[in-house]
Amino acid sequence: MSTSAVLPTVADVVAELERRYPPAWAEQWDRVGLVLGEPRAPVRRVLCVVDVVPGTVVEALAAGVDMIVAHHPLLLRGVSSVAPTTYKGRIVHQLIKADVALYVAHTNADVADPGVSDALAARFGLAGLRPLHRPAPGSAAHGAGRGIGRIGELPEPMTLAELARHAAAVLPPTAWGVRAAGDPRRTVRTLAVSGGSGDGFLADATAAGADAYLTADLRHHPAGEHLAADGPALLDAAHWATERPWLDDLAAHLREAPGVETLVSDLDTDPWTVHAASPAADDKEPRREG
Ligand SMILES: [Zn+2]
Repeated sequence: MSTSAVLPTVADVVAELERRYPPAWAEQWDRVGLVLGEPRAPVRRVLCVVDVVPGTVVEALAAGVDMIVAHHPLLLRGVSSVAPTTYKGRIVHQLIKADVALYVAHTNADVADPGVSDALAARFGLAGLRPLHRPAPGSAAHGAGRGIGRIGELPEPMTLAELARHAAAVLPPTAWGVRAAGDPRRTVRTLAVSGGSGDGFLADATAAGADAYLTADLRHHPAGEHLAADGPALLDAAHWATERPWLDDLAAHLREAPGVETLVSDLDTDPWTVHAASPAADDKEPRREG
């Protein structure tokens, strides 16, 4: 029996995605939307990934999907060639040859309600969620509940050291794990979270009165200066691990398009593959001046 007449198309899946994540909500520098794929092509199966990299392309081709929905843009900056001799050009060729469409929902999914950081906050059971950084009034994304990152209350207060171990246990496993900055004995009740590179929102976490802020890609100087100014304690998780939780939410949303089967990639695309703690250096006391 042929069911091709009733299968949703790439355009149908795109419409479903854009109802929840309007492209106009993306940051100006961002590049979201359909990257590859004929809008009229039928879609039976979709793979949700954080990154379009050779490993997740292999996964998509092996699973026979018709479409990939990715969080990170494959082509963020201008390109003058997609020759298959280049890293990204190779991926473009593989996907087009296999008739696999590619769609990106990035900062428009970060800012949405529910968005990327709601799924991250749910791993910690945070209650009373509110946005960490609200879009400017007048911007397309401005609206109730929307914003980058989330703040909420932990079900039980815990020390920073306990929270770091808890975070490593509830987030998807990576070699990086979780590291924390600040007094390990500090009590954390209110936690701010932001999926992906969140050091642009350190001041928001301070202004919101969070006890701790969990994000990824924190750097030496901004983190050190933030702590020296008595900002919230910091937890630095693997970038992939902070965004992977959202893929389950994305997949559940896509299942609302009738006839679409959705798969979620658990391939850890974080670049770090080895973590070695220095002997006897765990949970050191914060250095005090004077
Ligand atoms: Zn990211």
